[in-house]
Amino acid sequence: MLLDKEIFKKDFKRKLITMFSEEIGEASSLHKYLALGGVVKEYMSEKWMKTNKQYTEGNNKQIYYFSLEFLIGKLLESNLINMGIRDICDEALKEMNIDLIDLENIEKDAGLGNGGLGRLAACFLDSMASLGIPGHGCGIRYKFGLFEQQIVDGYQIEVPDNWLKHQNIWETRKEDKAVIVKFGGNSYISEDNGKLSVVHQDYEPILAVPYDIPIVGYNKNNVNTLRLWSAETVDKDLNLEYFNSGEYLKAVEYKYSVESISQVLYPDNSNKNGKILRLKQQYFFVSAGLQSIIKRYKKMNVSLERLHEYIAVQINDTHPAVAVAELMRILIDEEGMNWDIAWNVTTNTMAYTNHTILAEALEKWPVDMFKKLLPRIYMIVEEIDRRFCSELMSKYHGDWNRINQMSIIHDGNIRMAHLAIVGSHSVNGVAKLHTEILKNQELSNFNNFYPKKINNKTNGITHRRWLIKSNKNLSGLITETIGESWIEEPIKLKELEKYSKDTVFQEKIAQVKENNKINFSNYIKQNYNIDIDPHSIFDVQVKRLHAYKRQILNVMNIMDTYNRLRENPNMDITPRTFFFGAKAFPGYHFAKQTIKLINSVASKINNDSTINGKLKVVFLENYGVSIAEKIIPCANVSEQISTASKEASGTGNMKFMMNGAITVATLDGANVEILESVGEDNIVKFGLNAEEVINYYKQGGYISTEIFNNDPRVNRILTQFTDGFLNVAKDEFNDIYHDLIYNNDEYFVLKDFDSYVNAQNKIEQLYRNHSRWQEMCIVNIANSGIFSSDNTIRQYADNIWNVHGVPVKL
Ligand SMILES: *Cc1c(COP(=O)(O)O)cnc(C)c1O
Repeated sequence: MLLDKEIFKKDFKRKLITMFSEEIGEASSLHKYLALGGVVKEYMSEKWMKTNKQYTEGNNKQIYYFSLEFLIGKLLESNLINMGIRDICDEALKEMNIDLIDLENIEKDAGLGNGGLGRLAACFLDSMASLGIPGHGCGIRYKFGLFEQQIVDGYQIEVPDNWLKHQNIWETRKEDKAVIVKFGGNSYISEDNGKLSVVHQDYEPILAVPYDIPIVGYNKNNVNTLRLWSAETVDKDLNLEYFNSGEYLKAVEYKYSVESISQVLYPDNSNKNGKILRLKQQYFFVSAGLQSIIKRYKKMNVSLERLHEYIAVQINDTHPAVAVAELMRILIDEEGMNWDIAWNVTTNTMAYTNHTILAEALEKWPVDMFKKLLPRIYMIVEEIDRRFCSELMSKYHGDWNRINQMSIIHDGNIRMAHLAIVGSHSVNGVAKLHTEILKNQELSNFNNFYPKKINNKTNGITHRRWLIKSNKNLSGLITETIGESWIEEPIKLKELEKYSKDTVFQEKIAQVKENNKINFSNYIKQNYNIDIDPHSIFDVQVKRLHAYKRQILNVMNIMDTYNRLRENPNMDITPRTFFFGAKAFPGYHFAKQTIKLINSVASKINNDSTINGKLKVVFLENYGVSIAEKIIPCANVSEQISTASKEASGTGNMKFMMNGAITVATLDGANVEILESVGEDNIVKFGLNAEEVINYYKQGGYISTEIFNNDPRVNRILTQFTDGFLNVAKDEFNDIYHDLIYNNDEYFVLKDFDSYVNAQNKIEQLYRNHSRWQEMCIVNIANSGIFSSDNTIRQYADNIWNVHGVPVKL
């Protein structure tokens, strides 16, 4: 977009006046931020309108990404970057004595997600728009996002995330596009003169109101839409009977019970959660989303029997899987389609992405609960299951065992993954290894029955947020070195590889990292009053806290290093600062103990003056997108140490690689593909591989107490956890101790300990060879282009959605 500085200044001043009746001199930073956001949104509005118009008039196929989570972070700067007006605005604001960064800091993170799954959805929105693909998001406008984490005395405390406290400048409420979602009541088939029809009566109607957020493509005129639904009553905010009799709380009780549907994001990550409110949330946004898609479609005047030629719905994990039955309901009950045609349309419209093989994360809903909340949808699920099982019977005759394993309804539960698989034409895993495990283990029956359905789409990250926005020093250096074509085509980062041995370039790369580390150290000093040595190795593990991600393994290596240093304070090691950032699910005791453990170890080590500051441990409070954007550009070492076979893909690993960190990795998820792309010499791998882990699970043969008894380092560390050494009560870490010793260490922490310590020693040796280390960093950056989500989205577009980019013309 061409923007004149003087015009921008005028627009900005006018906006301050129209919004707040204020001049710059008297406006607070908050008002200046809101006015800036308002101007930027205005600049997008015409493109947004034209995008919608051209998509509709061109009958272009539309993609809808259905997700219970969108972990977006802040939008101001990424909007400025994608519109190509960041520098102009920055300069113009400076001339008015306003610091753009100050205003950017005022924006609250939209934290409508837990971790990788929600962040993936946000990266995909950015990539779809930037490739000109008509692709939109559909989700819930939670009033409260993922809780804010505070650390008090080393413990995690959860505080509500009131992200909508200030006006959300990006959203537009579209009340006229509201739809009704029906819960409860009863449903049956009635016959009238030989004609069958479905009756659904005595249901509770809930009003779903959409809030639209524009998603701007980089250097494109396409502005796609993220539509988030909010739950409201249908004209029943106040019960007048109660109100008139003075029972004011009761008078508004109903309003609050309805609004609870979109009140708060479940803080649940890979944990089963069978609460009815969660099922309500799922059906609520799925039904509202599909209704609005069908409404729009019908304006096109194309037969609904061709819906799948014009619409694709991608289901992000099983959370929106009820979409299969809801689309059937709309097509049959509301549009009068017969079952077979509706089924053909539905399965060709839906595609499902699987994100996990953790058994406890596979969603199931008790039939009783489901039937009561969604009586008509249950009838449809039953019929889908009946037809599916009869197909299974004709293929597998008397193999009841197999049919039981595959049915949708089983043992009083509805298996949502099975509904999603049966109801979709594509089922994809999110990294090569994960997809292979799905095909050969978890979903082998389905792979046998539907030989072509399961496919791989390795996850990705948007290089616009995770490099251009968050690491300006590095992206500036890259452009200075190879030109700017990598921005549109990130695969061209490969051109950096020819400079990997160039000592002048190596020095520039080293300097960028050093400067980032200095800036971050200053930020940490100012905001948290912690002193860190910017010249130490920055070793970073930031991700959700979960036993399978093995933050404990990291802690054990830190303790081992500390123990060696205590014995020999003059030990010759490069000073290292270990950073952790992680939120724990509030009801997940082991995870919360791990946070307390990290903080206890930090306080012990950071206060021990005998080790000469060679080790430091920092827990970054409230890990989220904005903190990720700050710490990742500073990392020298990326900790990707999950138990092999457990991490479906990981995307944190890709962000670090792209920013020139060296990965310490198990052969898990996309780490395997990172290794393939950089080669064995440019990554440090360790530990059991997936096959070995799976064999242990199947055949046994691992006894954690043997390691506890035979490895004095392990013995000493676990004893220190529980003997008061860390200045906490002796039973403080009982759960951790119990899991590792008495529960036989389900995630092979002790088993991989020795190999991990060796890997960390290797890191130390490599880091000492300055030139070799920089070479590794350059090779990592140069090969990170394939992990741009643009690349991932192209594969979804070509192989699943069958859609092309449609650049919008103004
Ligand atoms: C990328 C990202 C994640 C995912 O990290 P993994 O290491 O892949 O688990 C989680 N949270 C935030 C805020 C992220 O940006």
